[in-house]
Amino acid sequence: MRLANKTALVTGAASGMGAATARLFAREGAKVAVADMLEEDGRAVAAAITAAGGTAQFVKLDVAEEDQWEAAIAAVTGAWGGLDVLVNNAGISGSATNNLYDTALWDRIMAVNARGVFLGVKHAVAAMRLRGGGSIVNLSSISGNVGQERIHCAYNASKAAVRLLTKSVAVQEGPAKIRLNTVHPGLMPPMRTSGATADPVFRAKMLGHVPLARSGEVDEVAYAILFLASDESSYMTGSELHVDGGYLAS
Ligand code: NAD
Repeated sequence: MRLANKTALVTGAASGMGAATARLFAREGAKVAVADMLEEDGRAVAAAITAAGGTAQFVKLDVAEEDQWEAAIAAVTGAWGGLDVLVNNAGISGSATNNLYDTALWDRIMAVNARGVFLGVKHAVAAMRLRGGGSIVNLSSISGNVGQERIHCAYNASKAAVRLLTKSVAVQEGPAKIRLNTVHPGLMPPMRTSGATADPVFRAKMLGHVPLARSGEVDEVAYAILFLASDESSYMTGSELHVDGGYLAS
């Protein structure tokens, strides 16, 4: 039980890597808040965790809305006495359009992927200070380190913002024993909002740049998040964990 007696909130936990992370956290002993905009799918993830003997609650949350963050954190601290772990995983893709200079899309991607993470960090830090510390894991991407074809530049910019926001707050909150790190997945199953990057021809081309020569699986990212969330990583803050089959090394 690597997260025994911990409480955790995972955003974007209705599907993909967020759902895998919520399920893994519960198996490792955490009480888990499954937070997402998608109510039906999010409730199903929480119900499956409970049916398997874990502890979970669904929390409706649009990460771009600050008042919803206040309510989400209050739901966790009210039910379980405090917050130990936040995983800022919710995100939208930058590959759903052919117009790579769409201004409205720039605003929406930055609102969810960058502002959403900032708001989560802001409100989790306040709760974790009351707890005497905590761990925040933010989902960046290989797209936060390098540029790519067919992806709106806001996606890369937002994931790079996550990377440096994480380091900045890690430096400032170290004395409060609040650790922040990023996880950078590589070629994974497509997101709900993926467009061009879900195309098999594009994916085959991307695979040519992956030394391990395959896509990743959601649990392979969830285990990296688990390590950074747990006390096993107690001397790590401000760091980047690449879960990308070697993409950024090549
Ligand atoms: P996904 O589309 O399967 O899941 C994303 C979840 O976030 C969904 O459940 C969605 O409803 C939720 N969400 C979107 N906007 C939201 C909002 N405003 N408020 C609350 N929830 C919201 O995607 P995924 O592949 O599981 O991606 C998870 C994270 O990993 C994202 O941050 C993504 O950018 C990042 N990532 C994905 C890949 C990939 O190839 N799939 C690669 C690198 C990084």
